Amino acid sequence: MNRIVILGGGESGTGSAILARQKGFDVFLSDNGVLSPEHRFLLLKYNIPFEERGHTHELILNANEIIKSPGVPEVAPIMREIRSEEIPVISEIEFTGRYCNAKKICITGSNGKTTTTSLIYFLLKNAGLNVGLAGNIGKSYAYQVATEKFDYYVLELSSFQLDGMYDFKADIAVLLNITPDHLDRYNNSFQNYINSKFRITQNMHKEDCFIFCSDDEITMGNLKKIILKAKMLPISQTEILNNNGVYVINNKFVANYNNSEFEMLINDLSLNGRHNVYNSMAAAITGKILDIHNSVIRNSLMGFKGVEHRLEKVTKIRDIEFINDSKATNVNSAWYALESMHGRTIWIVGGTDKGNDYSSLFDLVKKKVKAIVCLGIDNRKIIENFRQLVPVIVETRSAKDAVEKSFEMGEPGDTVLLSPACASFDLFENYEDRGKQFKEAVKQLEVA
Ligand code: ADP
Repeated sequence: MNRIVILGGGESGTGSAILARQKGFDVFLSDNGVLSPEHRFLLLKYNIPFEERGHTHELILNANEIIKSPGVPEVAPIMREIRSEEIPVISEIEFTGRYCNAKKICITGSNGKTTTTSLIYFLLKNAGLNVGLAGNIGKSYAYQVATEKFDYYVLELSSFQLDGMYDFKADIAVLLNITPDHLDRYNNSFQNYINSKFRITQNMHKEDCFIFCSDDEITMGNLKKIILKAKMLPISQTEILNNNGVYVINNKFVANYNNSEFEMLINDLSLNGRHNVYNSMAAAITGKILDIHNSVIRNSLMGFKGVEHRLEKVTKIRDIEFINDSKATNVNSAWYALESMHGRTIWIVGGTDKGNDYSSLFDLVKKKVKAIVCLGIDNRKIIENFRQLVPVIVETRSAKDAVEKSFEMGEPGDTVLLSPACASFDLFENYEDRGKQFKEAVKQLEVA
């Protein structure tokens, strides 16, 4: 069992190759696209044979095990062949977990993963723990296990990573929420996607902790169907809990773990919005489980600066606030963004539609949105859905134009919110590019 082939040469694949090499495997990496100069350099540095712009079947199908990068879909022709040869396929996280004794805090969910992972990492760092941050974020887990020595890892896990996980075990698992997403990769079956998310709980022992949102009906409905040995730690903003878990009462939340409590006023949290209250609650109970001092938990939840492109406050110009929530690529995350708006809002929305159903936004939009600025090539669906609810709808095709039109319509006290509810690929490279162009356009207003 010594030939490992890695499919995909991005951050995850390159890291896996380096770790596999270090562990003495016969390693080969294959990517049907083009590698970034940085990853190509690393593969050369570590003497790892690789190919790009295509797959050589005979160099792949002789593997004892395949590590598939999350971006490679099951329907790729090479995957079909690998499956028909019955070669075991795992994810980078599964592979790396075999060589990592650190305590693993793993976060998944349809929305809020990056925010919560970053917040928990910030908290553990503030507590003075020797901790690494990995998964779908920053440097790959595999690369870090090959080159660093951490006592803790905070890992953001997407459903694609979870799909290739079998023996991996989290010490603390957080499942934030489940709403339909990426169904194209799950045979259009919501249940398949749900099952994938629940893999985060597999192999957990009775001393491990499972943190989940008990306000999430999908999570609760599916939790009933499985047997879990781990300690259960619900998070709720709608009911008072008597046992271990976190709940909201009188504008504050209370986290209780083994009769040790932590309380915090919601207004003191640095992150705004109901969704971020959930994220902060998940971080707080993680802190309690790890026996982090209440003062450190409080200071961390007050001091966390947030993550770029997630309800990121850009600036105020003439008392008009600009917020960059470019990462809101689905309706659910845009709902939370709109929900957290206080004043009148000019909402920049649109892009590549992922089969969106906008009806859950109607009430919020009616209450809070004074104008819609469409930012996309095909805006018909947005216009059709909202024209009865919002007096002004304009169309734009660049971040600059969207920002300028919004500013023209803005009055002191208004907020301009970029929270597109759509993917960005019609006009931008990705959501980061969209957010950066938005911020740049806002900066230009300041100069003008
Ligand atoms: P992910 O990594 O899961 O995509 P992010 O932390 O990057 O999540 O946030 C993505 C979007 O979802 C942002 O627009 C953010 O405002 C919104 N969001 C963050 N946390 C939550 C949550 N708990 N529930 C719903 N939406 C959320």
